[in-house]
Amino acid sequence: MKDENLRNGDAKTPVFGSNEMLQPAPVDKIPDGPTTPQVAYQMVKDETFAQTQPRLNLATFVTTYMDEYATKLMNEAININYIDETEYPRIAVMNGKCINIVANLWNTPEQAKWKSGALAIGSSEACMLGGVAAWLRWRKRREAQGKPTDKPNFVISSGFQVVWEKFAQLWQIEMRQVPLTLEKTTLDPEEALKMCDENTICIVPIQGVTWTGLNDDVEALDNALDAYNAKTGYEIPIHVDAATGGFILPFLNPETKWDFRLKWVLSISTSGHKFGLVYPGLGWVVWKDKKYLPGEMSFSVNYLGADITQVGLNFSRPAAQILGQYYQFIRLGFEGYKAVQYNSMQITQYIHDEIAKMEPFVNYSEQVVNPLFIWYMKPEYAAKAKWTLYDLQDKLSQHGWMVPAYTLPENIQNYVVMRVVVRQGFSRDMADMLLNDIKAAIGELEKLEYPTSTRIAQDKNEKVKTKVFNHTGK
Ligand SMILES: *Cc1c(COP(=O)(O)O)cnc(C)c1O
Repeated sequence: MKDENLRNGDAKTPVFGSNEMLQPAPVDKIPDGPTTPQVAYQMVKDETFAQTQPRLNLATFVTTYMDEYATKLMNEAININYIDETEYPRIAVMNGKCINIVANLWNTPEQAKWKSGALAIGSSEACMLGGVAAWLRWRKRREAQGKPTDKPNFVISSGFQVVWEKFAQLWQIEMRQVPLTLEKTTLDPEEALKMCDENTICIVPIQGVTWTGLNDDVEALDNALDAYNAKTGYEIPIHVDAATGGFILPFLNPETKWDFRLKWVLSISTSGHKFGLVYPGLGWVVWKDKKYLPGEMSFSVNYLGADITQVGLNFSRPAAQILGQYYQFIRLGFEGYKAVQYNSMQITQYIHDEIAKMEPFVNYSEQVVNPLFIWYMKPEYAAKAKWTLYDLQDKLSQHGWMVPAYTLPENIQNYVVMRVVVRQGFSRDMADMLLNDIKAAIGELEKLEYPTSTRIAQDKNEKVKTKVFNHTGK
């Protein structure tokens, strides 16, 4: 008997025997009718099939591994909207606990039961909130002095993450960049102060510069700024962009002063979904005290069944990440976080040392201070090489690895570098596999008879046209 429904889709339809699998997937228009969940699942799943496995993606800073219980908890909370605080009051409380824990990891002096901070979708939103708060505080002070408020600026190194460019554009606040050079690889405090004036809303040092993995010296900046503020009468504060370092320093370098122990550090942001060890998207921003969080940034709504006050750019947002973060705090504890971050650092150091032994390469920095580092081709090797790091990137991607090559920011933009970020889920064994694949790729590239197109372009000093990676933190 012929089953008329079989190809059209019912519970018996073999997924790959269905009509849908003979049709292109929708691009422009919603399909006329429904299909079975099995077919829909397979089509969507298969569109992403050819992508890198997330754990082989050494370009990203963002969590690609959580244990089964964390995954279960987060999946079970997938239908919860954080903004419905009245309906899910325990999640709002859990959020407050996470903010308290993060604030205390950063040595907040605030004594209140609930520390001043906010949940964000990532560091981008957290940085925006920190920046806006600094701007509003500056504006209020200027208005009180009867001075103009139309030309705010902030100071940051040229190693900024792209969010600061967005902040500058969206709020029309001038971004003053302290150039990084091969000699000055992090923010130079004296150069930063030279760029400050009465219109400077804040200075933004970075812990875990996205381009290089290095840390700006916040303590030196704070000291220099203290003298500068005393001399000028300005009250320029510091917002620390600790997207990466915020969850590294407290565990591995607790004695390093970069946080609220410093006088002028009034706000700090981080990515819960980077080394906070939670799947995306999660960020945190904390203020040193409630008085540094301007009241104008809190909005109250009453149509959810109660007066809800919230600080943030988005309204609705997933709650699952809060459960994931709170789970990680309980599951790992301080010692567990320390152990995980320690392993990531050790494996980074190992890859760093092995790369240094390879003839073509030189590391950008001797130090490894975060679980990431960059290297470039020795100029003398590059002078005779027929390939570039872009070619190496391509070769490695054939083995499933995503290891990005990119050019450094302005002033040092002629340097093409390669970066590895090591996260939870990457073992010494995987590092050896990667290193072997790098060695094998170099072996093949060294056999080339003619230069590659990226080599020719680089020798002509042309902008190398290649796959553009989001080196800025993704
Ligand atoms: C990743 C990163 C950001 C942006 O963080 P998201 O969590 O991806 O929004 C901002 N600043 C620095 C230094 C970063 O590394």
